[in-house]
Order: sequence, then structure tokens, then C-alpha cells
Amino acid sequence: MNSSSIPDVIPFIASKTYAHTQAWVRALQAVMPDERIVAFDAISDKEKAQCTVAIVANPDPADLQQLPQLLWVHSVWAGVERLLADLGDTELKIVRLLDPQLASTMAEAVLAWTLYLHRDMPAYARQQQQKLWQSLEYRRPQQRNIGLLGLGALGEAAAKKLIQAGFTVSGWSRHRKNIDGVECYAGDEELTLMLGKTDILICLLPLTPDTHGLLNARTLAALPAGASLINFARGAIIKDGDLHTAIDSGHIAHAVLDVFETEPLPVKEWHWEHPSVTVLPHCSAPTDRETASAIVAGNIRRYRESGVLPTTVDRIKGY
Ligand code: NAP
Repeated sequence: MNSSSIPDVIPFIASKTYAHTQAWVRALQAVMPDERIVAFDAISDKEKAQCTVAIVANPDPADLQQLPQLLWVHSVWAGVERLLADLGDTELKIVRLLDPQLASTMAEAVLAWTLYLHRDMPAYARQQQQKLWQSLEYRRPQQRNIGLLGLGALGEAAAKKLIQAGFTVSGWSRHRKNIDGVECYAGDEELTLMLGKTDILICLLPLTPDTHGLLNARTLAALPAGASLINFARGAIIKDGDLHTAIDSGHIAHAVLDVFETEPLPVKEWHWEHPSVTVLPHCSAPTDRETASAIVAGNIRRYRESGVLPTTVDRIKGY
């Protein structure tokens, strides 16, 4: 707060091409009537000099550098690897979006695409093209082992949804988790143990130096032949050439890919036309502007009242 009782501006900063800046400003202002939420382009130099907190959606780092008093930013996205990379070495604290609605939307997507694979829909689509009337052997969900990479906010919600649907669920994280009904694995040494018994592998890891290229020829080979893969995290966690080879050989029966190293996925890429790949346009769990704004508002209100920041991103871990 500045010396008059007019609150300091909280800028909303997105990339120049982002189409929804005004919609975010309206949604955030509606839930923070005591604050002044303003698009970055509309704030004065004097106001820029006073900002201590900003709300961001993949901002241009050069914009952040124009805010000399900035202490922390609240991202409206759950993934922060791009923000971390763009910001480089800085003291600026980052708070990412932790929204139960986002976790629920992701869990719904996980269940939907797990059922797609579980009920052999890719194979039936191929059979239809061949006008082939042939039923495949049915397996109960209990007979299908689902392996989750990542048991954080999204992975845990997905695990619970899959258990409710009757699947046999395992999960892997850095530190061992204790989630009812989930066989929990931890650390590099236990990854291949989980992979070895996984029919459908679902990636919900953050992209960090440790997870970059984690799914490669060696780890994909640890899956049983005919396993399938869903990537709802970040494209670079998979070594794309190794996945292509594993799919062409039939070792991976089908991949549902929502995220890619380059997005939008260039038209020349092999994934588009491969019969064993489902391409999704990074749509598995979009941020809900309304629920996210309410969460951001709560975090900023608590900060204004107590000076305490919400949990911030650990720069060493990278998430
Ligand atoms: P989170 O709460 O930070 O959870 C991350 C999980 O990954 C944790 O269980 C963590 O283990 C585990 N992990 C991280 N590095 C690991 C490593 N090297 N080895 C083993 N486990 C590791 O993150 P989240 O909110 O669940 O989100 C996960 C990711 O989903 C985001 O980073 C984002 O990239 C992606 N996402 C995608 C979409 C989409 O629409 N496609 C939408 C939102 C988010 P510990 O618990 O032991 O730390």
C-alpha cells in the first residue's frame, strides 16, 4: 500500500500476443475489489516503480525487469518451467497456481483417456476403417495396472479418480507417498520396478533438469510390450525419437500426447498421422479463470494481511 490509501497497482503481465489479458484483469478485479488490477501495458512508470507483486501468465522477462520493487509473482499456470527458465538467476519469488478445480479437471482427463485405452478404442477405430467386425478380449479395470509418474497435486487427484473407477494404481515420486489404495514407489532406483508392471503409463511430472528426457529408450523398454502411454505433463520429458521408435516397433501400443516440445505441434511432425498416436492440443487441464482468480485473490489477501507468502517454487528442485 502506498502513503495515500489507494492500493499499489497489481499488474497482470502476459506475453504481448496473449489473447485473454482483459478477461483475466476483469476476473481478478471482480474478486479483489480492494486492489487495482491493471494490464501491464496500461500502468504508468510511477506505478511500475511501486509494484511489489504481479500476477503473471508467461510474462516477457523484460516487463518484469521494469518493476524494481517486485518481490514475488503469482502465476496463473500450474507449470512453471518456462517462467523459471525465462527469469534465470533472480531473487524473485514465484508462486504457482494450486487449484483443486485444476486437479479435478486433470483427473477427469486422466480417467477419460485411460478408459479410451482400457476399452481398446484405438484398436476398434482401426478395425472400423478395415470394416472388421471383431471383438477384442475384455479385461476388468482391476486387471489393468496404471502407473502414474508424479504424485503431486495433479497425480494424487488422478490416482484417486482411477481407484474409484476400479483400476489397479501405482505411483512414483521423489519422496515416497502414502495414498490409500496406491502402490507407491520412490526415487530413481524404484522407477523401473513400477514401469515393469505398468499397462498404461501416465506422466504428470514437472519438467526439470532431472525429468528432461526421463522417458527414453531405456525407460520405455522397461515397460511390458504392448503398454500404452499418456503424457499430460510436458513434451520434453519424453525423448521424442525414442518414443517414435518404440511405437513403430509395437513395443508401445498407443500414445496419447497432449504436450509437445514445440507447441503448436508443427504440421510436419510425425505424430499427426501416426495411427498409434492421439494428438491433443494441450487441452487436458486448462486453468479455470474463475476458480484460479479466487485462489490468487486469497493468496494476495493473506499476504497483505500477514506479510506471509504462499508456498513458493523451489528453484533448486525446479518445481
Ligand atoms: P507438483 O504438485 O509439484 O507434483 C510434482 C510431482 O512430481 C511430485 O509428486 C514430485 O515428487 C514428482 N517429481 C518431481 N520430480 C521428480 C523426479 N525427479 N523423480 C520423481 N518424482 C518427481 O505438480 P502438479 O501440480 O501435480 O503438476 C505437474 C505438472 O503437470 C506441472 O508441472 C505441469 O507441467 C503439468 N500440467 C499440465 C497441464 C496440461 O494441461 N497438460 C496442466 C497443468 C499442469 P515429490 O512429491 O516427492 O516432490
